[in-house]
Amino acid sequence: MLRRKFVPIFFASAALLLCCGGCATVTKNTSRTFDTVVLDPGHGGKDSGAVRRYSPAEKTLALDVALRVQRKLHESQMRTVMTRDDDTFIPLDDRVAMGNAEKNSIFVSIHFNDARRRAVRGFETYYQSPYAQPLAVAIDRNLSTLPHSVNRGVRTARFRVLRNAQYPSVLVECGYLSNRGEGNEVSSPAYRDRLADKIAEAIVDYRYGKGMYARQPAVIAARSAVDPFAASFR
Ligand SMILES: [Zn+2]
Repeated sequence: MLRRKFVPIFFASAALLLCCGGCATVTKNTSRTFDTVVLDPGHGGKDSGAVRRYSPAEKTLALDVALRVQRKLHESQMRTVMTRDDDTFIPLDDRVAMGNAEKNSIFVSIHFNDARRRAVRGFETYYQSPYAQPLAVAIDRNLSTLPHSVNRGVRTARFRVLRNAQYPSVLVECGYLSNRGEGNEVSSPAYRDRLADKIAEAIVDYRYGKGMYARQPAVIAARSAVDPFAASFR
């Protein structure tokens, strides 16, 4: 869950002009080269994120899924950096800075969602840079293969972890804790492992080409050594 602020159109336009005139953040396209995945479990510490009766708090679920993604990426020979690996509050700007400090990386933020209407359910994947769009699409497509899933689509947004990132950055909302069905589902470690599996698969596909996930790690390592850009792989 991320709070969205509604800015009057006049001020939004002015901000856009200012940004185009002197915006320091430039997203580099590391989609074919990245060797590090910065995993960002949303919230933490005093910031619980969404809290509903059907599941543990968002901060707990996000950390659990991110740690599972981390383990799966390690199995595919990928280096990871966690913005947090315990129940700690980390300001958004610090998370962005940790991502930007990794020079050949991508950034994946993991959240769960919340809505007043309890019927709302489904996955959402957000990006801002065009370089991140294929990753957002791959995650969205993979999550949609889970049984009973509802796909709410790939969207652009100016969340801080997206707009200030120098490298491809996506934010995944892994379901609505305000929905009884999804809240119950994410309470299951087995389901959270499937969520992590779909996200990790999308990341590996994004880097090495479709079908590389779950193949022999040695194959990925060899392919990476021969062709660091893996251009022929797409
Ligand atoms: Zn959140």
